[in-house]
Amino acid sequence: MFYKKRLMTPGPTDVPPTVLSEGGKPVIHHRTPQFRKILTEVIAGLKRIFKTGNDLLIFPAAGTGGMESAVANLCSAGDVVLVASCGNFGNRWTNIARAYGVESDHYEVEWGASVDPKEIERRLSANPKIKAVFTTLSETSTGVESDIRTIGEIVSKTPAVLVVDAISGMGAIPMETDDWKADVVVVGAQKGLMIPPGLAMVSISKKAWALAKEAKLPKFYFSWENAQKSMTAEALANTPYTPSVSLIMQLAESIRLLEAEGLESAWNRHAKMANAARAAMEAIGLKLFATGTYSNAVTSVWVPEGVDGSKLFKTVRDMYGITLAGGQGKVKSSIFRIGHLGYADDWDVIAAVAAIERALAEQGYKLEFGKGVAAAEKVLFT
Ligand SMILES: *Cc1c(COP(=O)(O)O)cnc(C)c1O
Repeated sequence: MFYKKRLMTPGPTDVPPTVLSEGGKPVIHHRTPQFRKILTEVIAGLKRIFKTGNDLLIFPAAGTGGMESAVANLCSAGDVVLVASCGNFGNRWTNIARAYGVESDHYEVEWGASVDPKEIERRLSANPKIKAVFTTLSETSTGVESDIRTIGEIVSKTPAVLVVDAISGMGAIPMETDDWKADVVVVGAQKGLMIPPGLAMVSISKKAWALAKEAKLPKFYFSWENAQKSMTAEALANTPYTPSVSLIMQLAESIRLLEAEGLESAWNRHAKMANAARAAMEAIGLKLFATGTYSNAVTSVWVPEGVDGSKLFKTVRDMYGITLAGGQGKVKSSIFRIGHLGYADDWDVIAAVAAIERALAEQGYKLEFGKGVAAAEKVLFT
């Protein structure tokens, strides 16, 4: 049988056709008014999407490169930072800090839960030496959202800088950088922003720049200061080394698409897809993994008893064309995840639910075909 390929992981995600075709255009030289105009417009568009008036830089890197840039530019060896983690990606902040000789006060909640802002408040007042708080908007490994607005309120009253990994959240769920007082926000290309992997974007507040001025960790490729100098030295944006020309041209198109839909409409579309996916999984008797606030970017589901999770995932991918994600870290084989973010719509969710029903039934799991689909339709069609 032939099945259309659908990439329903929480990154990378499917790329819209007009964004793909931008990537097929001739490469233009980056030291030209033509490219620098595109870059200038992309930076302005990203600021509207981040909802920020702060400086914004783009690095040719995976999202993790943007995360590493935050540690390298904000910290000095021996500094103490607070990491508030609710999963695998939250833990990455501590791993990066450790690699740079920065000590992390590691606060990790039970996976499935959201970070508790009160605990951040408690740890900040217990240790006034904490220079920065690192956390995650949408924890992709568990399908959980944390309350950045409240965390921002707390951190802004202290000298510490708030750094948010919004890699899988931006474009999909609300992120109000300035209103929520998020000093540094890190985003990756291949999730809600609907372009192929390879770009990291970082917004930087005045408070974060002040800390960056004192920071002594070594950096070159990821130097915010060098990048910002190139960005602002002349009327049109520039970069200290060769940027990802094609990806930036693709990003210009995806920003156009996102703004044509409207950012708020995109958030609503994601909320609807997520509600439908959750209702469908519960309707066929599966249990959702998240116990905290659900992230509308990704739905995480326990693999039911008697079902082989990795076989389920492989059947759906190799037989039915839909790539879901397994679990990560300590829940690697006990959960699976449905990514419904970026270039995804109602029909993708219905297709994924139907494929999951079919693959579950093939493993002898008892269900009535269409029950999950009906539950999803009920959410999507009303
Ligand atoms: C995907 C993701 C990352 C890592 O992004 P890479 O581009 O793979 O480096 C980090 N944090 C979150 C929340 C993510 O979803």
